[in-house]
Amino acid sequence: MVCAEGYLFECERRGYLQAGAFVPEVVLDHPEVVEGLHREFVHAGSDVVEAFTYYGHREKLRVIGKEDILEPLNRQALDIATKVARETGTMVAGNVCNTNVYEPRGPAERAVRSAFDEQVGWAAEAGVDFVIAETFSWAGEALLAVETIRAAALPAVVTFAVHREGTLRDAKSPAEACRQAEQAGADVVGLNCSRGPRTMLPLLGPIREAVSCPVAALPVPYRTTEAEPSMQALRDSARGGAQAFPTALDPFTCTRHELSDFAMAALELGVGYLGICCGAGPHHVRAVAEAAGKKPPASRYSPDMSKHSFLGSAPGISQSYRDYATHL
Ligand SMILES: [Zn+2]
Repeated sequence: MVCAEGYLFECERRGYLQAGAFVPEVVLDHPEVVEGLHREFVHAGSDVVEAFTYYGHREKLRVIGKEDILEPLNRQALDIATKVARETGTMVAGNVCNTNVYEPRGPAERAVRSAFDEQVGWAAEAGVDFVIAETFSWAGEALLAVETIRAAALPAVVTFAVHREGTLRDAKSPAEACRQAEQAGADVVGLNCSRGPRTMLPLLGPIREAVSCPVAALPVPYRTTEAEPSMQALRDSARGGAQAFPTALDPFTCTRHELSDFAMAALELGVGYLGICCGAGPHHVRAVAEAAGKKPPASRYSPDMSKHSFLGSAPGISQSYRDYATHL
């Protein structure tokens, strides 16, 4: 299964969402942009339309002083996603995520629970097929999300964001956190966000061994390295070593081929739920879908360099132009 994510970064790049706050007000301000992006990702091979409610929870809206738009934003995001899913024959997913107020055994636990309750409740009313609970760096917070989703009798996909130390903030390994999420009732467990293909891949084998349910892998399409394993850790030497996250990651962007290689390697490890997180473009999504053996509508336009004027070999390509190719 392929699930395209990365709506925040794409809407930000297009000028419809503010970096920093990263609240998806675009859902209310420009619903046509969100609907169009859902359609583009389905065209490129996503089997799921994920309602754009990431960071659309009460805690985030409190930070920007707009709690009054909480419910309309969630309901509208679910309506847009459901409409596109129905029209394209894909699944629709609700979404909850890291609240950024969670602390283990802390007083904020009640606020976290109620934020999940609200969003999962609206998703259930909208008739979603399942709920994605994502980008958790606390295993404990993810378990609260699973509890809420199970209570609503919906399937749960749970993914963790692993920061540069390679552990979760409550000191469990990613594999241990996934195992706990599965035991709590999650139907799919795995990783999303933060890490690029190169630094996410080594974490997937141990997860596959630790659980028996399907495993998910949705990296960010950035060239993270062992020295800089997360997108937040990336430093741009061309800009005096400045932090590239979140608005100057462009020079680190992976090619579609790197995403394709990642998808094939992950499939080989037994990962069954693939996607791409922050930074994903439709060309990345298509590459992952094709690596998984799918032929989405966008495959009609997949590259065929045999027809290129200099680099091609198809009949009708001038030999003298082909000879000039090395001079380009
Ligand atoms: Zn992400």
